[in-house]
Amino acid sequence: MRILIVNDDGVYSPGIAALASVAKEFGDVTIVAPDVERSSTGHAVTHSRPLSYRRTPIAGFEAFRVDGTPADCVAVGFTVAGKADVVLSGINLGTNLGNSMWHSGTLAGAKQAALMGSRGIALSAPAPVVETSFDVLRPHVRRVLATLLPEENLTLVNVNFPAEPRGSLWTRQSVRHYDGKVVPSKDPMGRSHYWFAVFPIEETEEGTDRWAAEHGYVSLTPLRLDLTDHEALAARQKKDPARS
Ligand code: MN
Repeated sequence: MRILIVNDDGVYSPGIAALASVAKEFGDVTIVAPDVERSSTGHAVTHSRPLSYRRTPIAGFEAFRVDGTPADCVAVGFTVAGKADVVLSGINLGTNLGNSMWHSGTLAGAKQAALMGSRGIALSAPAPVVETSFDVLRPHVRRVLATLLPEENLTLVNVNFPAEPRGSLWTRQSVRHYDGKVVPSKDPMGRSHYWFAVFPIEETEEGTDRWAAEHGYVSLTPLRLDLTDHEALAARQKKDPARS
């Protein structure tokens, strides 16, 4: 199995070496990742300038750094190194739950793989665990890959690890509550500025990714690329068949 690893924290993030150290048990690993951190860049691609692709071996793995976004890395990586059977994106330093999926560069790396006819799995965990005690997560990452990699029909999955997993759950995306908040403040010269920050959500609904993570479970959310609201579409077509 050909595995391409990407992330949005940059090619030198400890999360990428951690993921590669487990992924190598499942196939041939090539790392293609942004040269600097690109967190919260969503699914942006770079079309106004060319991209570079430079060899940067990481922890004994063949690795390349690209001066672009996670989605760029997957597209350029497929072009230069060949299409992979699966793209693993992460392990992100920080969870990507609920509405974060809309902003996540980690998930975008996985989405780009699915868009290009491959498969994508995004993996995220609380930053301190990946940075200081990855061995706690290692068996859980291994179990998740062993579960997901043979499932060829699962083309896009978002995985989140809690600090100390006690099991795993299939979940849906939690989007009812939004944790993004713009905080107004002043710079040292007294000018107004605004900081986009994230605040904890107090309410979580059972069955969602956020609920699973808060209760100590690894959350596995199968996703699709089609954003169409099929229920609304069917209702409109029924109401107004002439335009269907
Ligand atoms: Mn990140």
